[in-house]
Amino acid sequence: MKIICIGRNYVKHAQELNSEVPTEPVIFLKPESSLLRKNHPFFYPEFSENIHYETELVYKINKVGRHIQKQFAHTYYDEIGLGIDLTARDLQNKLKDKGLPWELSKAFDFSAPISKFISKTKFSEQNGISFLLKINGEIRQQGNSKNMIFSIDDLIVYISKFFTLKIGDLIFTGTPEGVGPVKIGDNLQAFLEGEKMLDFKIL
Ligand code: ZN
Repeated sequence: MKIICIGRNYVKHAQELNSEVPTEPVIFLKPESSLLRKNHPFFYPEFSENIHYETELVYKINKVGRHIQKQFAHTYYDEIGLGIDLTARDLQNKLKDKGLPWELSKAFDFSAPISKFISKTKFSEQNGISFLLKINGEIRQQGNSKNMIFSIDDLIVYISKFFTLKIGDLIFTGTPEGVGPVKIGDNLQAFLEGEKMLDFKIL
């Protein structure tokens, strides 16, 4: 399986990083070895001094497809979860400055804590899907799928022009504003429509 991640999919997050608001989705990948499941702790790696949290809605692909048309895009997923796109911001800024790929700062081991998944039938498209992150009990990020620049269906259309989507692939849909550093000892809890989905520690 593969993990496809979207950068800068919320206007206010692009602005907080002084990035341009994109006219096409910004795409990068994480390998399967980046997954961190079952609320296992995240061990702070030695190669960074500025690991940031990015809380994101994650969609799980349920059938194989390429060149998917927009009207069928919604049939390629039926479960939604939450993930944290952990990012070594110091390393990413160095790579960005040199025009180099981001992988070292985004795709390292356990950089993708992931929750369980919930049936999409539990959510209403009208109101969007809301989510939030608490660190040590304090709200740090609040997002809603309504504020995504590219909807999940737009993303599936775009991604599937380049990559065959396969069963079990995950799409991390980008983070809202409020990103910031984690530190050793922090407790991260992420909620999807009020339901606790993630609860793990930084060690
Ligand atoms: Zn992200």
